[in-house]
Amino acid sequence: MMNQIASLQDTLKSLRLGETADQISNLLEQAEKNDETYAAFLMNVMSFEQRRREEKKIERHFKWATFPFNKTLEQFDLTEQQSLSKKQFNQLKELLWIEQLYNLILLGPPGVGKTHLAVGLGIKAIYRGYKVIFSSMGELIHTLKTEEITRKSQTRMKRIRNADLVIIDDLMFMAMNQNEANLFFHLINELYNNASIILTSNKAPKEWGELLGDPAITTAILDRIMHRAEIIHLNEDSYRMKHRTSIFE
Ligand code: ADP
Ligand code: MG
Repeated sequence: MMNQIASLQDTLKSLRLGETADQISNLLEQAEKNDETYAAFLMNVMSFEQRRREEKKIERHFKWATFPFNKTLEQFDLTEQQSLSKKQFNQLKELLWIEQLYNLILLGPPGVGKTHLAVGLGIKAIYRGYKVIFSSMGELIHTLKTEEITRKSQTRMKRIRNADLVIIDDLMFMAMNQNEANLFFHLINELYNNASIILTSNKAPKEWGELLGDPAITTAILDRIMHRAEIIHLNEDSYRMKHRTSIFE
């Protein structure tokens, strides 16, 4: 029996049914206990493998996404954010805009929930099977600049180009030089038609030009991003300020 199970595990592994190989003893035991039919047993084994693969895929996508925190849409309080209607929020939640390759531009001053909303949508998208990457603008530029130099950046860029949704947080927080603006433009060009982008920024798009430096590149980037885009202004009083804890009574 032990030998039989060991060789069964080898066979399962060579067929790339690793999850089943790990759990085969339990699955057999359960089948015997429940007196399962052959068909029911086979079905249970196959759906076990399928479910575990799906779970592992989601775990992998979470790891790749590198969210700064794991705040969900359920934790996003709409009553705190009057500038987004319930209906709009629900539409965003449905994620049809990812299917339609729409971009979202989330604007507003610090603390209004731009990053929270972006992360919440990203988490939802992962559970729907999409590949999502979260990157601050600063990190993105660094990764682009070091793509040819380090394996880590190369892998990261591959995942970004492969993603269904790329969240670029705090756009234009830093002024870019010509080379950086060029690299950024090329990336936007590659993502355009292949992925949705969420941009968050505390500056209005018309101010992006000065930070990107080159007006021609700025126009080209804005052109592609705005072609199919929804702009959402989050400009309630800062949630962070309202809910800050004070040392004074
Ligand atoms: P921003 O990116 O706009 O600067 P964040 O998304 O980082 O702001 O939000 C700041 C903090 O306030 C976070 O801890 C976030 O979870 C919380 N927050 C902001 N808006 C909301 C909201 N509408 N509901 C619940 N928490 C919120
Ligand atoms: Mg933020």
